Amino acid sequence: MLIDFHTHSTASDGELPPAALLERARERGIRCFAITDHDTVGGYLAVRDSAAAQAMTLVSGVEFSCRWSGVTVHIVGLGMDVDHTAMRAGLSRLAQARQERAAKIAQRLEKLGFAGALAGAEAEAGDSQLGRPHFAAWMVAEGHAEGFNDAFDRYLGQGKTGDVKAFWPELAEVVQWIVAAGGTAVIAHPLKYKLTRTKLQRLVLDFKRAGGTALELVNGRQNPDQTATLRRLALECDLAVSAGSDFHRDSAFGPDLGVEFRAPEGLDCLGQHFLAEANT
Ligand code: MN
Ligand code: MN
Ligand code: MN
Repeated sequence: MLIDFHTHSTASDGELPPAALLERARERGIRCFAITDHDTVGGYLAVRDSAAAQAMTLVSGVEFSCRWSGVTVHIVGLGMDVDHTAMRAGLSRLAQARQERAAKIAQRLEKLGFAGALAGAEAEAGDSQLGRPHFAAWMVAEGHAEGFNDAFDRYLGQGKTGDVKAFWPELAEVVQWIVAAGGTAVIAHPLKYKLTRTKLQRLVLDFKRAGGTALELVNGRQNPDQTATLRRLALECDLAVSAGSDFHRDSAFGPDLGVEFRAPEGLDCLGQHFLAEANT
């Protein structure tokens, strides 16, 4: 069964507008699908009533950034009521955090002599979530940097002037928003945080304590060893499993939309869960 519970549209840092993304999913024959933009449900809202959405099981989605033990962790939320008060409050808090961060990045760039950074980045962002890529695009357009990578290497990347840490909420908070709104919280790409085995288990325990119930068994292209590691973790910790491409744009090395997914023996697959729910 082809499913995809982790994708990005232009509502965050993806290349395809939500409608085009959904159309691609339909063409590829994906049965169960979610648009999980960073810290916004805008992608989902844009298509939830479309004809293409009726042709499959479209589940609401979001990918929250949060803090846990000094690490930035991503939590995917699936199947929430996006109009729930807890969810709305959480989303607006994150939008504010991003805005404050952007203002700080702009302030720092202005100190370096790059005037008009905030307005420039906002114009680049349009309807999507304002972030460092938009500052980079503005710097390139203004001739302050030779290219996107140059802008990051010199001004925006890790340890540079524009590397402002956002004030993300705590892991427990975002998990609680998702759960309160009737959704399922999923630890996104658990191996990307490069945690030791012990620390990863601690993350899972804290996540479960907050109400989290699933992890991503497959995220984009990953090797079989990683999948095996995650399968063991899910079994040991009694978590359901999700899968997604983490598709952002077409690229020769990146994954295409859709993951051929069958949950390994003994594991609960979110795809089956949402399909069953849609059929009742
Ligand atoms: Mn992204
Ligand atoms: Mn992520
Ligand atoms: Mn993602």
